[in-house]
Amino acid sequence: MVPGLLSPLHKSEVRLSVSAQLKIARALALCLCAACAPVHAEPKPPAITPPPETKPASPAPPPSSPTIPAAATATAVPTVEPTPTATAVPEITLVFTGDINPARCVYTIARDAGDMALPYRAVGEVLQSADLAIGSLDASISDVNPPSPCAEFHRNLLAPSEVVQGMQWAGFDLMAAATNHIKDCGLGRGCVHDSLLDTIAHLRAAGIEPVGVGRNLAEATAPVIVEVHGVRFAFLAFTAINGEVWATETAPGAAPFLPEVYMDAVRRARAQADVVVVLPHWGREFTGQITWEQALGAQRLVEAGATLVVGNNPHHVQGVETFPGGAVVAYALGNFVFDQEWSDGTLYTIQGLMLRATFRGAQLHGVELLPVRIHDNFQPRLAGPEEAAQILRDVEESLRSRPGRGK
Ligand SMILES: [Zn+2]
Repeated sequence: MVPGLLSPLHKSEVRLSVSAQLKIARALALCLCAACAPVHAEPKPPAITPPPETKPASPAPPPSSPTIPAAATATAVPTVEPTPTATAVPEITLVFTGDINPARCVYTIARDAGDMALPYRAVGEVLQSADLAIGSLDASISDVNPPSPCAEFHRNLLAPSEVVQGMQWAGFDLMAAATNHIKDCGLGRGCVHDSLLDTIAHLRAAGIEPVGVGRNLAEATAPVIVEVHGVRFAFLAFTAINGEVWATETAPGAAPFLPEVYMDAVRRARAQADVVVVLPHWGREFTGQITWEQALGAQRLVEAGATLVVGNNPHHVQGVETFPGGAVVAYALGNFVFDQEWSDGTLYTIQGLMLRATFRGAQLHGVELLPVRIHDNFQPRLAGPEEAAQILRDVEESLRSRPGRGK
């Protein structure tokens, strides 16, 4: 399927059958309710200008106040509970993950076990029970060269085509592919665009629609539109990292995270769909500190019409906030399936989040954060109570450090 075409997923609505472990995680999950207002405001021009690189320019608002005043003009509409005679509004759940590297040690372990689904088995229920499951692929998938070896310092992430079997088992419907590793070639070189084009083909063959990539800029910035229970969701993905993988008018690649590109893409997507979801690959690696590019980008995406923004790339959990008007931005979910259990013993690269967004019709009703811990360098499981609480504290700490917000 070509991005931009309507792709109805006839997935039956499945009620969550929560395990005891999941119940614990849910009890700890940070729930950000966004039920107050539909986000159908007309696009507005950005109200703040990018500050100098070195110094935050805008005065810090009080910590408890809405942090980005520009969006405060969105009209708040009181929630109206449907009357018993009203037509039932469908409840729709979307589950998002952090970064996935199916190459390197993850592939080696799955191959040796003879089970490509092994990395996903402990959280399969959460992903499979969602109406839509959306991942973030921080690698390329191609047989053009031998796969990247299991080595901590090998930074070129190429996975063989068979890894899509695991993603398919896990229930992924969409995969953000506008990431810095989308043209990685493994130990060999010279595959130019081949690994990206192969990634698109292999994902689609497994029934997973790649987001944010294409044979040219127009394809890469076209929304993937999926209709669920009559609600049209448009998905866009962009990468701010590694301009070498960006698509051009004529060359294959990923959608660039440039304001003139992403704002136009969001507006066009909003005209075609009820809900716009944006998946940016952005921010600095290995830190919870949110950058100006992320903070300003989030504001612009929301103003252009995004209801939900779920970022990745930092390999570290970052803040989650609700904007005036009801849009929710999660700056980064950390790692999900990744082999970054480093010998220095730091934990943040083996901790992450799944984000479950619940919609009632086209209205975002709430967001839950489900903390995960990556075990044995390849397999995420729901974190235990103490660790889950610590991960959620890291999320809150990250948000307090967001540029433009009072500390
Ligand atoms: Zn990345």
